[in-house]
Amino acid sequence: NDVLLEVDDLKKHFKVNQGWIASLMESFGSGEPDYVHAVDGVSFELREGETLGLAGESGCGKTTTGMSLVKLHDPTAGDIVYDDTRLSEASDAEIKQFRQNAQMIFQDPFESLNPRMTVYDTVAEPLRIHDIRNETARVQRALEFAELLPAEQYFDQYPHELSGGQRQRVAIARALVLDPDFIVADEPVSMLDVSLRAGVLSLLDRMTDEFGLSVVYISHDLSLLRHMCDRLAIMYMGKIVEKGPTDQIIENPQHPYTQALINAVPVPDPAVGRDRVELQGEVGDVIDIPTGCRFKNRCSEYIGDVCDQVVPPLEAKTDFEQDIACHLYDSAEGYDPYQDMTGS
Ligand code: SF4
Repeated sequence: NDVLLEVDDLKKHFKVNQGWIASLMESFGSGEPDYVHAVDGVSFELREGETLGLAGESGCGKTTTGMSLVKLHDPTAGDIVYDDTRLSEASDAEIKQFRQNAQMIFQDPFESLNPRMTVYDTVAEPLRIHDIRNETARVQRALEFAELLPAEQYFDQYPHELSGGQRQRVAIARALVLDPDFIVADEPVSMLDVSLRAGVLSLLDRMTDEFGLSVVYISHDLSLLRHMCDRLAIMYMGKIVEKGPTDQIIENPQHPYTQALINAVPVPDPAVGRDRVELQGEVGDVIDIPTGCRFKNRCSEYIGDVCDQVVPPLEAKTDFEQDIACHLYDSAEGYDPYQDMTGS
């Protein structure tokens, strides 16, 4: 498939201590501000019609990456290329067009919908922002697609009159009403009652097929991502540590972090006999980033100095279909991991 979106070394750092005392100290030169390195050099492609999962524990940067993809955050560095246009160099008209084509579904349908807006206005609002006609017909079609039937019955309802599942369907209708090219779905069912999840997931599945959409799913739930995604990217402390075809990553994980994550997923049938491995240790400091591999303090495969000093690049490794960022696979003859100590 053709590439729809290219994420090129994306970084998003947030300043900590934003208060006036911090600004005053900074203006007097008393101390450098601290930054959380939420996303710290992430590159991947999103192809037309594909579903890509971003996985990892909370705080790994997956949500910040997703919000950057739809331009809810401007990157600190790096860029996103959409339809051959670098967004950092795009005109206002191109950015407006991009915003129309890039939509997001948030985790919490209780917070993402304005409680003072009716269902109709909630779904119609993006059409008004983008000056698109045929409002009523489009709102109706989007609600019908989201299986809120009959659609007119929902027009005048407010979010508090709806169930969690219905609210998430309204959010999906709002995302679809502009006929976008891609959608970022951030933990789209994690706040829903278990009994409602399957229905919303099958709606999302149908949305991908019928609209030919590309979708980025963000979740900590590998079973869900396995079901929904063509490819996976596993994130740890702001970086992708492994990415590739879903089956390959799930069946044949190579990065020690991916292996630990997969082993930590409960197996429904204990007879299947997978040893449950709990992740040891704490996630490292996202402000004062450790040297070398960020997973080193929790890694069961730690191999010494090279892990301590050299950032493992995310690369294709011989014998594997996936890209892996780990020095365990550096052993090709003549390879010198110390050659580029600046890699980040
Ligand atoms: Fe473990 Fe070293 Fe690989 Fe990092 S680079 S995951 S510390 S073996």
